[in-house]
Amino acid sequence: MTDVGSTDVPEELAALLAGLEPMDVPSRLDALRAALVEADVEALLVTSLVNIRYLTGFTGSAGLLLVLPGDARFVTDGRYRDQATEQLAAHEVRAHVEIAGTDQREVVAGAAEGIVRLGLEADRVTWADQRAYAETWFPFAELIATSGLVEDLRVVKDPGEVARIGAAAAIADAALARVRHRLRDGPAERDFALALDTEMRHLGASGPSFETIVASGPNAARPHARPTDRHIGNGDLVVLDFGAVVDGYCSDISRTIMVGRPSATQRRLLEVVTAAQGAGIEAVRAGVPAAAVDTAARQVIDDAGWAEEFVHATGHGVGLEIHEAPRVAMSSDATLVNGNVVTVEPGVYLPGHGGARVEDTVLVTADGCRTLTHAPKLAAV
Ligand code: ZN
Repeated sequence: MTDVGSTDVPEELAALLAGLEPMDVPSRLDALRAALVEADVEALLVTSLVNIRYLTGFTGSAGLLLVLPGDARFVTDGRYRDQATEQLAAHEVRAHVEIAGTDQREVVAGAAEGIVRLGLEADRVTWADQRAYAETWFPFAELIATSGLVEDLRVVKDPGEVARIGAAAAIADAALARVRHRLRDGPAERDFALALDTEMRHLGASGPSFETIVASGPNAARPHARPTDRHIGNGDLVVLDFGAVVDGYCSDISRTIMVGRPSATQRRLLEVVTAAQGAGIEAVRAGVPAAAVDTAARQVIDDAGWAEEFVHATGHGVGLEIHEAPRVAMSSDATLVNGNVVTVEPGVYLPGHGGARVEDTVLVTADGCRTLTHAPKLAAV
């Protein structure tokens, strides 16, 4: 089961990956500056690496970005000297790159001199960091706790971002198509997960977008089961939940596959979940409350008598992170807008019978949505 699979990438997928349209990175700093004015801060210290990546294109594992009204300073250490300069230049980002070792504080504090109201990313800064910023880095400034300033920009994807998520979705689809038949051979969940991951890497993913879920038989009744040594057998429902990463962007797909002959309850379970997922997708449209998508999917499951067995939200935003805004949940106050990328993934989990979850990643449009994941549903092997 752990053979390395085939390395040839289908022509269509290769062309997709080679022709990804550029992202509009340079405009993001100015969009953030407009948000800073709204939030009544003069400058923002961006400490979240994923937000730094979004704003600058930098992919390293250490750095600080100080966004000032007419300037931006990106500070990282010597390991990233060349990479930082190259990546910011490649994305045409207008920011000064400074390389600092133990003197990062002097460099950043020096650049922030004269700033009175300095924003921090409250959801991303640790208590210890906040104290250090207040006491030793920026004693001259009032530190303002901001929330979601960069994340709010990230919810609307530009065409380059959609292309990357779409490519990551196409890789996940292709990987499943290549390994799905092996479910018949009774692989261990763990080995099948590895086969899926390996195939996604062969097809051009930089990695899986999260730890692949392969949950079969009784394990399928646990929504986030981790793959075990259990061998997949005749009569199992197998929940697969996985995704790929392309140029930092994630895809997310779940399919539930019937192996051999399912029971009547198992078949109904999968049919109801598939119908609920379809109802959720039907409800997706710019201008619609995200909660209404959850309600549409949940209603189908309620009607089938399994309200208590649908134990999670219907979906979430997907982008540079596998879980990001907007949440597609009953309690969500978000309204869907053009350019959101969200998942629709209802599930029902019945101890004794197994479980089913069906999920697509979709792009929200003015008149509905475009589905980015396409693997067949109601599939059997
Ligand atoms: Zn998901």
